[in-house]
Amino acid sequence: MFQTPDLGGPGTGRPGPPVRRSIATISLSGPLEEKLAAAARAGFDAVEIFEGDLITSPLSPADVRLRTADLGLAILLYQPFRDFEAVPETLFQRNLRRAERKFELMASLGADMLLVCSNISAAAIDDDALAADQLWQLAERAAGHGIRIAYEALAWGRHISGYERAWKLVDRVAHPRLGLCLDSFHILSLGHDPAAIRQIPAEKIFFLQLADAPLLNMDTLAWSRHYRCFPGQGGFDMTGFMADVLASGYSGPWSLEVFNDVFRQADAERTAVDGMRSLLALEEALALRPGLSPGPVTLAGLPAPVDLTGYAFIELAVDGLMEPVTEYFLHGMGFARTGRHRSKPVQLWQQAGARILVNRTRADDPGQPHGHAAVSAIAVESRNPVRSAQRAQALRAPAIPRSVGPGEADLPAVTAPDGTTLFFCQTDASGHAGWAGDFEPVPEPPQRRPLLTAVDHVALSQPFDYFDEAVLFYRSLLGMHSQPNEEVASPYGLVRSRAVRSVSGGVRLVLNVPLLGGGRLAETATYQHVAFSCGDIFAAAQAMRSAGIPTLPIPDNYYSDLIARFDLTDELADRLRQSGVLYDRDARGGEFFHFYTAVLGRRLFFEIVQRTGGYDGFGAFNTPVRMAAQLHYAAAGRLQLARVN
Ligand code: MG
Ligand code: MG
Repeated sequence: MFQTPDLGGPGTGRPGPPVRRSIATISLSGPLEEKLAAAARAGFDAVEIFEGDLITSPLSPADVRLRTADLGLAILLYQPFRDFEAVPETLFQRNLRRAERKFELMASLGADMLLVCSNISAAAIDDDALAADQLWQLAERAAGHGIRIAYEALAWGRHISGYERAWKLVDRVAHPRLGLCLDSFHILSLGHDPAAIRQIPAEKIFFLQLADAPLLNMDTLAWSRHYRCFPGQGGFDMTGFMADVLASGYSGPWSLEVFNDVFRQADAERTAVDGMRSLLALEEALALRPGLSPGPVTLAGLPAPVDLTGYAFIELAVDGLMEPVTEYFLHGMGFARTGRHRSKPVQLWQQAGARILVNRTRADDPGQPHGHAAVSAIAVESRNPVRSAQRAQALRAPAIPRSVGPGEADLPAVTAPDGTTLFFCQTDASGHAGWAGDFEPVPEPPQRRPLLTAVDHVALSQPFDYFDEAVLFYRSLLGMHSQPNEEVASPYGLVRSRAVRSVSGGVRLVLNVPLLGGGRLAETATYQHVAFSCGDIFAAAQAMRSAGIPTLPIPDNYYSDLIARFDLTDELADRLRQSGVLYDRDARGGEFFHFYTAVLGRRLFFEIVQRTGGYDGFGAFNTPVRMAAQLHYAAAGRLQLARVN
C-alpha cells in the first residue's frame, strides 16, 4: 500500500516514482462529466470527487467509476466528511451511521480514501481523548470496508485547526487506517510553520492538497472560499512548503484543491491546463532547490528557461481604416518603413532597436466594427528559440500551426491566454534575424537621428476570467520574475496590474485586468500599449509634437502635486508640464520620465519612456492620472466631432 524500496527514493540512491498529479473536482466549473473530461485532457492522473459534484450529477456512483476509468483517471479520495469527531455519544452514533452510508457509496465509486475534516460545529467538545477514541472507532469501521481515513485540520476548525495538533491526534489514535491530509492553504493561511511536517512519518501522511492564495488579512473561511488559487498564483511559499513535505519522505499524490470566484465560472478545460502548468512549474522550482535529491518522488523535468534579452518585434493587427492612421503615428514617432513581407500584407517599420510589424488584417468584414488596431503578436529574442518553444510546449502552451511560404523563416510560436501570439526569435551574432529575411527592403529614406531606441515594455489587457492564468503562463513559460499585484484606481473602477520581467530585464510585460467585470470601466479596460525607450524624453516629446502626433494632455493639478511629492525644482516641473511628461522616482534616486500618445482606434496607444539610475518600475503612481486623462481626451474628441458634424 505504501512506498516500497523498489521505487527508489531516500536512502536508495535513486529518485522515487514520478509525481502523481491529481485535481479535486470542485476546482473545475461545470457538471461532473465535464470536469472529469477536462482533468483527463489536461493530463492529470487522478481526481478527488467532491460530494457536491456527485449529488448534483445524474450519473450513478458506478457510472462515475466507469467514466473515470475510461478517461484513465483514478479516484483517489472522496470528500468532505464533516463534523464527525469529539461529539456527545448520541450524535456520535448517528455520525457512525452516516459514515457507513458513505463507505457503501465509496465502494460503488471505487474510492478507498475518505477525507474527514476537523469538526467545526458547536457540538464539538474540546477533548482530544474523546476525539481520539471516536476517530479510532471510525478507522475500525473503515477498515471493514477497505477504506482509509485522511484527517484534515480546517483552518477554521472549532478545536482542531492546526496540522500539528491534528498530527498529535492521529498519532495518539495509532490506527493503520487513519492518517493525515495536509492542505497547504489551511497550514499557510494560519501562518503556521510547515517545518514540523518533516518529522511526521511519511506513511501517516495519507494525502496532500495544494492551494496557494494572495496574501490577505481576512477570515480564513472567506479567504479559502473566494481566493484560493493554483500554486505560484498567490503569495504563499509553496516551494518551501513542498520542500518540507518531501523531506518527510511523502511520495503520494499532489492534488490541487482550489476554488475561487473566477474559477467557478471559468472554462473547465482552461482551468485544468492552468492547474497542470502550476504543478509542473512547482515541481521545477523544487527540483532546482538545493539539497533535495534523490527525493521520494521524481519531479517533472522541463527544458530550462532561456533568458530573453529583448523584443525582436511587436506585431500590430490593423484594419483598413486604421492602417494609414497607424502609419501616420509610426512615422511621426520616428519610425521608417524598411520592409515589406514577401507573401503577406505585413510592413516592417523600424528605428534603432525598435521594430514594429503592421499587419493589415482582413477583419474588414461587416460584423466587425471598424477602427481595429491591437497588439497581435510579441516576438522575443531568445538565446535558444527551439528550447524556448520546447519549454512552452512542456508547460502545455498551445502551439500555433503556421503557414510559412517557401524560403520563409519558421518561427516557433505559441498562443498566450489573452490570444496574443508569442514568437521566439534569435538575431545571430552578425545581426542577422532569420525572420527579417522574409521582408523585401523598401526604398524609403531613413529619418534623421532616431528618437526611440527599443521596445521598453508591452502592457496587455487580460480577459477577466484568465488573469491569474495569464500571469502564470508568461512567468513560467518565459522564466520571468513577477512583481506583486498593484491595484490602480481608474475613474470608473479598480484595475489590477501585474508586471513580469525577464531575468536580464530585456523583456517586460504589464498585465492588466479590471477588478470587477462590466460597468463603465469596460470602455478603457481593454486598452493596451507598447512603450518605447528613448535617450531624451524632452527631445522626443518635442519632435513628436512637431510631427503632429497627438499626445495625452496631463492636468495641471498633477504637476502641483508632483512638486510637493518630490520637492522638484520649478525649472524641471515647468519642463515636465510644458512637454506633458509624467515623472516618478524610486527610493534609490532612479528616475522615470514618460508620456503617452492618443489612442489609435479603440484600444491601442503608445508610451515613450526614459529610465535613469536603474529605475525598474512603470510609474504605477501615474497610471490613475493617465486613465483619467484618457477618458477626458476621448470625451473631448467626441465633442469635437459633434461640432464638426
Ligand atoms: Mg482541503
Ligand atoms: Mg506603461
